[in-house]
Amino acid sequence: MSYLFAPPAVVSVPVVGETQAFPVHRIYCVGRNYEEHAKEMGFTGREPPFFFLKPADALVVVKDGETGSIPYPSQTKNFHHEIELVVAIGKGGKNIAAADAMQHIYGYAVGLDMTRRDLQNDMKKQGRPWCIGKAFDHSAPIGPITPAALAGDVENAEIYVQVGGQDRQRSNVNKLIWNIAETIEHLSAAWELQPGDLIYTGTPEGVAAVVSGDTMVGEVAGLGQLKVHVA
Ligand code: MN
Repeated sequence: MSYLFAPPAVVSVPVVGETQAFPVHRIYCVGRNYEEHAKEMGFTGREPPFFFLKPADALVVVKDGETGSIPYPSQTKNFHHEIELVVAIGKGGKNIAAADAMQHIYGYAVGLDMTRRDLQNDMKKQGRPWCIGKAFDHSAPIGPITPAALAGDVENAEIYVQVGGQDRQRSNVNKLIWNIAETIEHLSAAWELQPGDLIYTGTPEGVAAVVSGDTMVGEVAGLGQLKVHVA
């Protein structure tokens, strides 16, 4: 096959202890999946999980021990961090039962679901899609993927992000409203999952703005730190 122009490069994420990288298919994100974050966004109660997507090339891959850099994006005055546990799917499937879901996981990573909150809120008010608030360029920083067998007890891992050495968000993955297996069950009922899919599982409370010059340091215990500078 010849193409009119060079096809886009495969986006991939390095894997801890592996020379081969994890090629990315899609990025799914779960909305409002921690109760205290749902409350700070003005919602209460256990709603069914809902999903949005980011393009794979929105990833900003940060290698172990390095500090990544993202530009301050256009059109916003309220650029928010959302620290999240990311699930990396190794085996696809549709209608995956929660009881079988963990077999579909290759590994886990730390991610930031960066959000143009003002634009997202405008779109919400108007009943329009969130894409401009969520799915913009450089909106998905991610650290290396740790294979599940090496990741420890991610379901009970502390999760936090600091800016300028101060805590912004700090919680535990065990506070997810829909846990990892339930999330995969719901997601795979709506889309057929493929190897290479990433799932940003939602963020705890404490989302707040960053400005140019800030450095975010995030971690999910057992998965290493993710450091990202806002240029
Ligand atoms: Mn999020």
